[in-house]
Amino acid sequence: MKIFMDGRFVDKADAKVSVFDHGLLYGDGVFEGIRVYGGRIFRLEQHLARLCDSAKAIMLTIPMSTDELTEACCEACRLNGIRDGYIRLVVTRGVGNLGLNPFTCERPTVFIIADKIALYPAVVYEKGINLITAATQRNHPNAVNPAIKSMNYLNNILARIEAVKAGTEEALMLNAEGFVAECTGDNLFVLRDHVLQTPPPSAGALLGITRRVVFELAKRLGVLVTEPNLTRYEVMTADECFLTGTAAEIVPVASLDGRIIGNGKPGALTSKLIEEFHKVTRSEGTPIIKK
Ligand code: PMP
Repeated sequence: MKIFMDGRFVDKADAKVSVFDHGLLYGDGVFEGIRVYGGRIFRLEQHLARLCDSAKAIMLTIPMSTDELTEACCEACRLNGIRDGYIRLVVTRGVGNLGLNPFTCERPTVFIIADKIALYPAVVYEKGINLITAATQRNHPNAVNPAIKSMNYLNNILARIEAVKAGTEEALMLNAEGFVAECTGDNLFVLRDHVLQTPPPSAGALLGITRRVVFELAKRLGVLVTEPNLTRYEVMTADECFLTGTAAEIVPVASLDGRIIGNGKPGALTSKLIEEFHKVTRSEGTPIIKK
């Protein structure tokens, strides 16, 4: 396996980050998780735009242009024979001293891994996932804003530990006001009275790329999408509920904290959106091989 590391491709065994890298020492950096379908990188431009916004928010200058990042992602896929898989693009603050000050770091570290993807088991898509509500709150937007896709995932990991200990894979995270923010690695939608609802970014939701695709698909299907504040009650009593994420795609939700949502099976709109989503992923994207 070849890994892109600071401007060149190196063997996996040589793809190493310094113990003085602030990405490792402090979780100081930003990243993207991107899918490749049929030799095309899905929504690459949107992922790179979000990466740039995340970097801007933490005052990190990415030492590569968008064109260079695009080419490096394509080359990572080509070199590793990845036509269907997952790209992890990471930009850390770089090597510095042991102090917190990010401006001691000489230059950001950029690495790109293109690999196969480990998917959720098929049963999750057939039967739906069971959620619990995490006791761990989503970061307050005035602390580390959840809109920043930073390398600092401990908030999500604490909630994920609760999920795993409760025997499931995902947890609903609430914000400090008690409204639904998102799950540990996915956005959440509910369907109520034929209207799709999903928490707004101000509630602590990442502006998910898959979330955005669902907005587009819903529009095409003539379904209204709104972004109100949602409580657990509104999730439990929804007609349908599903999660969205690059790795997960669209996952039906069967229950929240033991309350069955709808009839407990993937809903009609959820199933339709999954079908339409697959059509989109099969029909667009940045080709890894230039024509
Ligand atoms: N929220 C969080 C916390 C995530 O880590 C992710 C996955 N990147 C998402 C939502 C979904 O975003 P996307 O559809 O862009 O993968």
